[in-house]
Amino acid sequence: MKEAIMLAETGIEKGEGGPFGCVIVKHGKIIGQGYNKVISTNDPTAHAEIVAIREACKNLNSFQLEECEVYTSCEPCPMCQRIEPTIRLAKSLELVSSQYRLCQDEKIGNRQQP
Ligand SMILES: [Zn+2]
Repeated sequence: MKEAIMLAETGIEKGEGGPFGCVIVKHGKIIGQGYNKVISTNDPTAHAEIVAIREACKNLNSFQLEECEVYTSCEPCPMCQRIEPTIRLAKSLELVSSQYRLCQDEKIGNRQQP
């Protein structure tokens, strides 16, 4: 979770997208991570979760993320929530992300992922 928040802050500092970070863990090891790159890549699907999922799938050489946990800095948008069942995560995105919501952090303000 801490790593996801740090990634979100990195994305803000670089101006690559909104304040969102994501980390994917399998058996205690980070296998994918990312932050929002919608602005820097002109890719409206480059949400933190998607960036992290792409990296994790590449590292596992699989299109599914069984036994993986996803930690996000904010509640995932509907697009990212729809992907969850297709990759067979061990833990729910929303369940984990409810621990801390960076998008509602007073420093950053209440923003939604672009
Ligand atoms: Zn999203």
